[in-house]
Amino acid sequence: MPTSPFDLSGKVAIVTGGNGGIGLGMARGLAAAGAAIAIVGRDEAKSNAAVTELRQSSAKAISVVADVTDEAAVTTMVERVRRELGRLDILVNNAGINIRKPPGALSLAEWDSVINTNLTSAFLCSRAAYPAMKDGGGGKIINIGSMMSIFGASFAPAYAASKGGIVQFTRSCAVAWAADNVQVNAVLPGWIDTDLTRRAREQVAGLHDKVLARTPAARWGASADFAGIAVFLSSSASDFVTGAAIPVDGGFSIMG
Ligand code: NDP
Repeated sequence: MPTSPFDLSGKVAIVTGGNGGIGLGMARGLAAAGAAIAIVGRDEAKSNAAVTELRQSSAKAISVVADVTDEAAVTTMVERVRRELGRLDILVNNAGINIRKPPGALSLAEWDSVINTNLTSAFLCSRAAYPAMKDGGGGKIINIGSMMSIFGASFAPAYAASKGGIVQFTRSCAVAWAADNVQVNAVLPGWIDTDLTRRAREQVAGLHDKVLARTPAARWGASADFAGIAVFLSSSASDFVTGAAIPVDGGFSIMG
């Protein structure tokens, strides 16, 4: 029988922020397609719970406690994954935070914290992962953007800048590493029900209903909506797709 173009048997994936929300939805998809998974986050208990769940469905999985804004920790993270799982084929740069304040009220420390977590981390992790991918004959990097990679956000200027930057960083790495058979793409989630947006719904009056009204699919996204795109962009099915920024948004970004 021919192998499925979506088969990830024998592949090894790092998912930053993989212990919950969109990252865990992607990790579940990659594991179901046969990949071994390294879940990366700062909260060890949360990461261990995710690893236990993945192992219960027969996947190979490890937890790596690391702050992805810390250059030395990122280097150690990749070394550990190569040592314990043998190789590195897939990197999902998903870790992210938001601080909701208008531009005039945002401190430099808050700006730096959002940019470092959402954008600089993708640079650090991609740079650390690239040699392993090149040595292994190729690789896949998936960067998580946002609707704010496209639209401005009066209430989240650092977040929008970081997510706009993610798209240009994606295109730059895609061009730089195409000759090494490393494909680099971005996924732009719409409004997804996770811990991050549960806080937004508490802070922004009327947000829940506004999202429903503007989303053609007429629902909030779920973490399970990210399993398929993760498998596609991690597998040979997407070998000629690079530098793309793909909305997974129930139509939010094409609603006039
Ligand atoms: P969650 O808050 O559920 O997940 C964020 C994850 O990032 C957590 O697992 C957290 O783990 C990890 N993380 C945060 N900071 C760091 C750090 N310094 N080092 C390592 N890990 C870190 O949010 P979502 O699942 O919603 O968000 C995931 C991604 O999707 C983010 O990039 C977000 O911007 C993006 N996104 C989300 C949307 C939504 O509607 N939910 C819409 C558009 C984009 P830990 O606390 O253990 O460190």
